Amino acid sequence: MHEIDSHTAVCGLLGYPIGHSVSPAIHNTLSERLGINMVYVPLAVEEDKLGTVIVGADGWKFPGMNVTIPYKEKVIPFCSELDPFAEKIGAVNTLVRQEAGGYKGYNTDAPGLYRALKEEGMDPLDKEVILLGAGGVAKAIAVLMVEKGAKRVYILNRTVEKAESLAAECNRIAGRDLVIPMALSDYKELTGSGYLAIQATNIGMFPKEDAVVIDDDAFYEKLDAGFDTIYNPAETVFMKKCRARGKKAVNGLKMLLYQGVIAYELWNNVSVPDELADQVYEKLCGILGTGK
Ligand code: NAP
Repeated sequence: MHEIDSHTAVCGLLGYPIGHSVSPAIHNTLSERLGINMVYVPLAVEEDKLGTVIVGADGWKFPGMNVTIPYKEKVIPFCSELDPFAEKIGAVNTLVRQEAGGYKGYNTDAPGLYRALKEEGMDPLDKEVILLGAGGVAKAIAVLMVEKGAKRVYILNRTVEKAESLAAECNRIAGRDLVIPMALSDYKELTGSGYLAIQATNIGMFPKEDAVVIDDDAFYEKLDAGFDTIYNPAETVFMKKCRARGKKAVNGLKMLLYQGVIAYELWNNVSVPDELADQVYEKLCGILGTGK
């Protein structure tokens, strides 16, 4: 790590509580390898202090912060401006300090996922996409799918009203009826095959890793490939079921990596070389004790 001195810039992760996070490993490794004098630390902040902390960070000229649960929406009133994509989805996971002071809010979760999907040969362009979930991350993914040219998007969620309001918002953005809301149990109504499925619920996450959002093997038969936003465990039941049917399946670790890389690039006005991103990915696999 760069010697900490009077010029060391501070960035960090705003959330509460902040459990185990690999974000410090992403950013501190990038700084070390790029020779950038920056440290990244967890910033656990209780909700009534969120605004105070952001004003303080501005005073200290922190170049930026990531924002995680439960503040991705709550941080918006404290942003001096919003990137148009973050504004569209109403969720910010990255704050970038502006020259004149204040923080501009971005969302790098969705572009991080897009970069991971492209790298894995899962480009949503002209694909029929099944999105499982309608929570915070699913919202960003749904808008991304619309913007990146998916042929049709089916949003399946336990609470069907949430799928309906998300689909309505996406269709408003798309200017046509591209997104169809459904109940989780309605997967049987999806005919044909070749779907790209993106798993964006909490189901299957450590420590409840035996769970899966749709159990029926017939569902997996319809897929071309499956992307799980979960990265711990490295192979979820959703992924196992895809693979058992001979379908490609990928976890969310590259999504996590690239949302961090994109944030780092915004804070430091640099471009992270692909080989370095690969090295950070290897490091994350080591930390999580997972294979690639
Ligand atoms: P969230 O806003 O709390 O949404 C949770 C989603 O899971 C909702 O759609 C919810 O359905 C569904 N769900 C929860 N419990 C369920 C159950 N028992 N049965 C059926 N559905 C259930 O969470 P989020 O922030 O969007 O996070 C979702 C996932 O994204 C998590 O698994 C997280 O690990 C992953 N993630 C990955 C990355 C990455 O970089 N790889 C980054 C952020 C998040 P209802 O609407 O019916 O409640």
